[in-house]
Amino acid sequence: MADRNRLSINQATTRQQHTLAEAIAAYSTQDVPGIGIWRDKLEECGLAEAKRRLDDSGLKVSSLCRGGMFPHPTAGKRQAALDDCRIAIEQAAELDADCLILVAGGLPAGSKDLIGARQMIREGLAAVLPNARAAGVPVAIEPLHPMYAADRCAINTLDQALDLCDALGEGVGVAVDAYHVWWDPKLEAAIARAAGRILGFHVCDWLVPTTDLLLDRGMMGDGVIDLPALHRAVSAAGYVGPIEVEIFSTANWWRRPGDEVIATCKERFQACV
Ligand code: ZN
Repeated sequence: MADRNRLSINQATTRQQHTLAEAIAAYSTQDVPGIGIWRDKLEECGLAEAKRRLDDSGLKVSSLCRGGMFPHPTAGKRQAALDDCRIAIEQAAELDADCLILVAGGLPAGSKDLIGARQMIREGLAAVLPNARAAGVPVAIEPLHPMYAADRCAINTLDQALDLCDALGEGVGVAVDAYHVWWDPKLEAAIARAAGRILGFHVCDWLVPTTDLLLDRGMMGDGVIDLPALHRAVSAAGYVGPIEVEIFSTANWWRRPGDEVIATCKERFQACV
């Protein structure tokens, strides 16, 4: 059973129901200790206003989503991605977020060069890491399920993310998202290898069938992921930080009242994680 003091809700879980200000109010009203924030919602609210509301609520920011998307066909666009990532690092520092989630990016438009895309990711990370270290913001590489390799993220296993961490040194670690890693036959060993470098743990469930590969994530307990086993593995690797519920669900959870979604997250977090 997960410790309720470690619960954080990624605001994507109620992104259709709540602005950032509304999410802060709704989560804190139900005594949820943490929130994962998305930059589009942050920018809509304004950084100063968001900070004021977070301070008033006592909510802790477990992550800021996201920086990255490094591979692009032109140097100008690659530079723009670096500039944007540096802004994300500053925002994460201002919010005192536990980490900045890094979604690396997929193939550049028109390209079939996956190896080249991965090289651009490595170069992009190396370029922004000095900024992250200076700002005191840990960067969490989140490997995404291989079905997103073309359009979102060419870092697709935990081992691959850890290889990058090994190459890049201090200030970078990984986010373990159940939805992205649960299928990996080498997962247990990879989580053990990640000891001391796990910066975030995200939970939801894999529905059978999954009707939309991006926007049909399940509530914990409704699918096939052995979340308690994953929780044990992450804990055995020394991770004691917040556990974020992150559910994108156009057909179900995004259509329900926000308060019902939050209450269900709390209940399932304790019963199923
Ligand atoms: Zn995630």
